Amino acid sequence: MEDFYTIQGEGFHQGSAAYFIRLGGCEVKCVWCDVKDSWDVNAHPNVSVLSIAAKAKASGGKIAVVTGGEPSMHDLSLLTQELKQVGLKTHIETSGAYVLTGNWDWICFSPKKFKAPHPSVPALANELKVVIFHKSDLAWAEQFAAQVSQDCQLYLQPEWSKENEILPIIIDYVKLNPRWRISLQAHKYMNIP
Ligand code: SF4
Repeated sequence: MEDFYTIQGEGFHQGSAAYFIRLGGCEVKCVWCDVKDSWDVNAHPNVSVLSIAAKAKASGGKIAVVTGGEPSMHDLSLLTQELKQVGLKTHIETSGAYVLTGNWDWICFSPKKFKAPHPSVPALANELKVVIFHKSDLAWAEQFAAQVSQDCQLYLQPEWSKENEILPIIIDYVKLNPRWRISLQAHKYMNIP
């Protein structure tokens, strides 16, 4: 769908320069999705993996973040192979809706209520990032915290349109449950993609 060099705004690598590769296609269809243009897989051109990897390398960035859409609906083996070939770390942002392919240095698993993750994904996660839209989502987040590895980083992130309402609830929750941390969408405060 698009690729661009920017700053990772969310989660463990927040603030780091990263080359974002947004793949078209998503069948998860979150009601609050902020990239609905990505949903139709046929609405976006086919682009060669080699050209994406070359642009990522030319950016000077050290990290490539593959996102979507829902990138796990694609076979990502060749893309990660080529990104590593040109010397970039491979990160993914995924709801885990499908069996994950590819060779990843960092897996950010962000489950969504609208399509259950594949059971193989939670154990692979380096980072669990749960978007909180309603207070009840906190209990739902704990279900996944129980499925990830001991060293997985845990983040709660307020859904952007409800941040004023939800952030105070998350702050109180993290103070009571300090193994979680708060992720804010810092790129939106910086007005960058
Ligand atoms: Fe949007 Fe991501 Fe949800 Fe797909 S999984 S609908 S791209 S927020």
